[in-house]
Amino acid sequence: MSDLPNCPKCNSEYTYEVGHLLTCPECAHEWSNSKGFPEEAGRVWRDANGNLLQDGDTVTVIKDLKVKGSSSAIKGGTKVKNIRLIDADHDIDCKIEGFGAMQLKSEFVRKA
Ligand SMILES: [Zn+2]
Repeated sequence: MSDLPNCPKCNSEYTYEVGHLLTCPECAHEWSNSKGFPEEAGRVWRDANGNLLQDGDTVTVIKDLKVKGSSSAIKGGTKVKNIRLIDADHDIDCKIEGFGAMQLKSEFVRKA
């Protein structure tokens, strides 16, 4: 079904891609997918105010965001802890209480 490599740690075949990282759902191991993206892409992530964002940062959502497939929206002012920056259109990977795993755009958050 997929041509992703098995997890190098536990050999799980249920690996999936998040940005240019591969993630194993069984042991939570993450590693970079060597085909394609160089280790250091030179990309930087900035919040709505132009501050640099880093993995593990806590950010605040600055406006109400509609959630696909949900009738509720993420309210402006919602704090999002432990973000992960990914190289995608929605470039922040995170978990939001009540919504679960989400991807946000860095232009709609501000470093807390
Ligand atoms: Zn694994």
